[in-house]
Parts: sequence; C-alpha cells; structure tokens
Amino acid sequence: LGGAAANSVSGRVRVAVRLRPKNAEELVADADFVDCVELQPELKRLKLRKNNWDSDTYEFDEVLTEFASQKRVYESVAKPVVEVYVNVGKLITIIAAWPALWPLSVLDGYNGTVMAYGQTGTGKTYTLGRLGDEDTSARGIMVRSMEDILANISLETDSISVSYLQLYMENIHDLLNPSNDNISIVEDQRTGDVSLPGATIMEIRDQQNFVELLRVGEAHRIAANTKLNAESSRSHALLMVQVKRSVVDRNFEFSPEAQNHSHSVGNLRPPLLRKGKLIVVDLAGSERIHKSGSEGHMLEEAKSINLSLSALGKCINALAENSAHVPVRDSKLTRLLKDSFGGTSRTSLIVTIGPSPRHRAETAMKVENMLKIK
Ligand code: ADP
Ligand code: MG
Repeated sequence: LGGAAANSVSGRVRVAVRLRPKNAEELVADADFVDCVELQPELKRLKLRKNNWDSDTYEFDEVLTEFASQKRVYESVAKPVVEVYVNVGKLITIIAAWPALWPLSVLDGYNGTVMAYGQTGTGKTYTLGRLGDEDTSARGIMVRSMEDILANISLETDSISVSYLQLYMENIHDLLNPSNDNISIVEDQRTGDVSLPGATIMEIRDQQNFVELLRVGEAHRIAANTKLNAESSRSHALLMVQVKRSVVDRNFEFSPEAQNHSHSVGNLRPPLLRKGKLIVVDLAGSERIHKSGSEGHMLEEAKSINLSLSALGKCINALAENSAHVPVRDSKLTRLLKDSFGGTSRTSLIVTIGPSPRHRAETAMKVENMLKIK
C-alpha cells in the first residue's frame, strides 16, 4: 500500500476530496479507459490506479463522490467553520464529525478558512463560487456561508463586512475596486491580526446585496485578468468576511467580582464584542508547467504559483501535525491567511479532482503536496 496517512481529526485542519462528475468530453473520450480514480467514501479513502495491479491509497477526513450535492459539500466542509451550534441534536452530529472543532466557529468569534485546491477544471469555483441564480440547489460555499451567517445574527447589533481580493504574482488586487492595486498586508504588532488598509470593505445588508458584490467582484476579476493578460485560473481569489457580534456577557450579573467592580453602573452589562473572520480561498490552478514550454511571463507566473502553493502546503502540514510553528512568512498567500492559522482557528481544505486518467499524475502530485506522505 503506497499510501498516505492524512490528517488526524484532532488537528486544526480538515482535508476533504471532491470528485467532479465526468463532463461530456470525458464521457466520450475516456469511454475505453478504466477510471483511474476510485473512491471509498465509507472508508474515507481515495485510490489512484497506477496500473492493473497496483494503486496508491490516500486517506481523507471526508470523501465526496461525484454524486455529492452542493448542500452536502457545504455541510461537511464549510458549515462547521461558519456556524455556531446551539441545537443539541446538531451539536452531537457535528461533534461526532469533527470533535476538535466545536465551538470554534466564525459566528462564535473565531477565525476560519475554507479553501479549494486542484487542477483547473476540477470544480474549485463550482464548489466555492457558484451563485445559483438559475438553480438554488447549485449555490456554492460562499453564498451558503453568508446565508448561514445572516440567519444566525441580528444586523441591529451585529455587523458583517466583506473584502474580495485577487492575488496574482504576489500582488494583491481589490476585486471590489479595480483602481486599488498593490495592497499591502499590515500586521498588528500587539495582536498579530492581519489587516489590509488599502482594500475596500463593504458592509453587508442582506443576501441579495452580498450576491451582487460577488457578481461585481467576478466581473472585475475578468477585466483585471484581461488587462494583465492572465487567466483567472492563474490567480488566487480570496473572500474575507468579518463578523462582529455584540454578545451580552451572561456571567456578568452572576459574578460577584463583576458586580462589586467600581466601574459597573447599576445593571448595565457591557456587551462583549466577538470578532470572527471567515476566509474563502479559490486557489490558483496547480497544474505543472513543463519547463520547455514556458518562458518569460508564463514561467514567472508558474514560479509564483508554485511558491505560494508550496508555502501553503507547508502550513497545512504544520497545522495537521498541530505544530506550534506554522511557517506563514514564505508567501503573500500564507501571510494573508496568518490569523486563520492560529491556535483557535480552523482550516478546511477541499481538494478537487477530475476522473480522467490523463490527469492522474497531476492529481497524485496535488494530493501528495497537501497531505504529507508518511
Ligand atoms: P475550476 O474552478 O477548478 O477551474 P470549475 O469550477 O470552473 O473548475 O469547473 C469546471 C467545469 O466543471 C464547469 O463547467 C463546472 O460547471 C463543472 N463542474 C465542476 N464541478 C462540478 C460538479 N460537482 N458537478 C457538476 N459540474 C461540475
Ligand atoms: Mg475556477
């Protein structure tokens, strides 16, 4: 068994794999091929066939077949990062699925990241970014996350703000305002929190307002890439959602210490501010570029993507091992994600793969990049 032991459930990162259904072309072209991908969802295993006799086996925290719905993908991959669980039945389900997670959700004031990683055309944007205008069952993780957040907070006391960025060749572009270029990353010396002073921050009022923002961002992404002569699959897109909630401290009135405190006036309880940040990352395509075929700009682009993806791989492996040191310094991508790699944060990575045997080597390389082979 040339296998890989993936990430333990108790780690700070959870890794899922999702197989895209065959497209029309693959149905025809690969009709004679035996599928190179075999999923064993109940064993949480992916097998990649090497030849008729041998295959590599990889273990994941979750295996999503080509039949998995967008709803199911959201619920197993993203919802545990987003939502606060109060319902006891739900709580039991979620603790069973991801014991170390609860209650460290974004709605509870913690940071969380959901990322999609895979070759171009395997369904990263489908999984994360589908708006579902034509068909609500097709809504992706970004839209469903916001629905969940809106359903669980009150905009009278709480707020949601969004930034939408593209990272291309180590340059951060604002997808909500194309004239904002070269945005710098600032870290708070005291708290270590990451902020982006130059980036547009939009308050969200309702779901429709959010979907419009995504649409505007996507249009700007296409325009910016035309200008840069780049394909959108060669850049990373990052949606950052900051949720601020004011929560009444229930312990306050019961705590004699707090009641005797000279600053407390009568029964006024100071609300606690809970800040949680959700980052959804549509990573650049991870395909290898053959050295002979690429030069100049293309080569620079490939180097930049490799740099950020390998830096990300190192961080993911450090998180999976519960290591005290997560090496975020090596790329802008990992610096942007820094405060979501902290001790109380949760990271959910979804590796998207295609069924075609032609992509076997790419698929194996990707899986191995992110899941350290033991
Ligand atoms: P990527 O962002 O990884 O390049 P896309 O999300 O653009 O890939 O997906 C490529 C194509 O495959 C699109 O036409 C998309 O609609 C389709 N697709 C991807 N995943 C699925 C899925 N799970 N079910 C049905 N179609 C899918
Ligand atoms: Mg895409």
